Amino acid sequence: MMDKKFTMKIAIDGPGGAGKSTLAKGLAKKIGFAYVDTGAIYRTVGYAARSRGIAPDDAEAVSAMLKDIKVEARFECGRQDMYLDGEFLGDRIREHEISHYASAVSAIPAVREYLFDMQRSIADENNVIMDGRDIGTVILPDAQLKVFLTATPEERAMRRTNELIEKGQAANYEQVLADIKERDERDSSRAIAPLKPADDAIMFNNTGFTPAQSLEKLLGIVADKLGITEAQYEK
Ligand code: C5P
Repeated sequence: MMDKKFTMKIAIDGPGGAGKSTLAKGLAKKIGFAYVDTGAIYRTVGYAARSRGIAPDDAEAVSAMLKDIKVEARFECGRQDMYLDGEFLGDRIREHEISHYASAVSAIPAVREYLFDMQRSIADENNVIMDGRDIGTVILPDAQLKVFLTATPEERAMRRTNELIEKGQAANYEQVLADIKERDERDSSRAIAPLKPADDAIMFNNTGFTPAQSLEKLLGIVADKLGITEAQYEK
């Protein structure tokens, strides 16, 4: 039997809008790891349900749909592109409504099972920084570093609202805040792989931090815990 390739794994979990993807992407660039956005993978399944007119909380219909779809993450130039049945989805998975679809389908055990091997095999082949909800607890329990990133719901709602406005999408702060709270509740209370810190995760509440300050703090944690520095990668 061939020995499994040794890869480094960094797991960043936390609720929506905590800044996981910005931070993970920034860190990946600094230390030369691949950034894997697992939320985008769930969003693709949510998108597939919406395109077929399937209610995202209809476990039976969503589970049946999985047999008919092909979800792919392709990595190019440090970018993760999502494909559904061979079609590039681009920013369509970022629509506000898809957040709700993703959150609902992700509570269905068959969906999590369906996506498990895909996430695991990416991490078996590459040094990764993977962000999501259950990376440190379920997908990569063997990660060498686990960070649980949080911020207050109000700050997360403000960041999300600004993000949507920047992308030219309709956004109302009160509505985004209500949606964030609803998603937090569903993600944390679901029976399977709920959003919760791994026992060995480092807690990082970045309320009031700019993205640059968060990245600096995370680089400090990575240097401290893994002995990996930006300077090493640049050499
Ligand atoms: O991270 P993002 O907000 O894009 O994720 C969309 C939804 O996908 C989340 O609200 C969550 O319900 C689900 N998700 C998950 N497990 C992950 C990543 C995302 O359940 N590892």
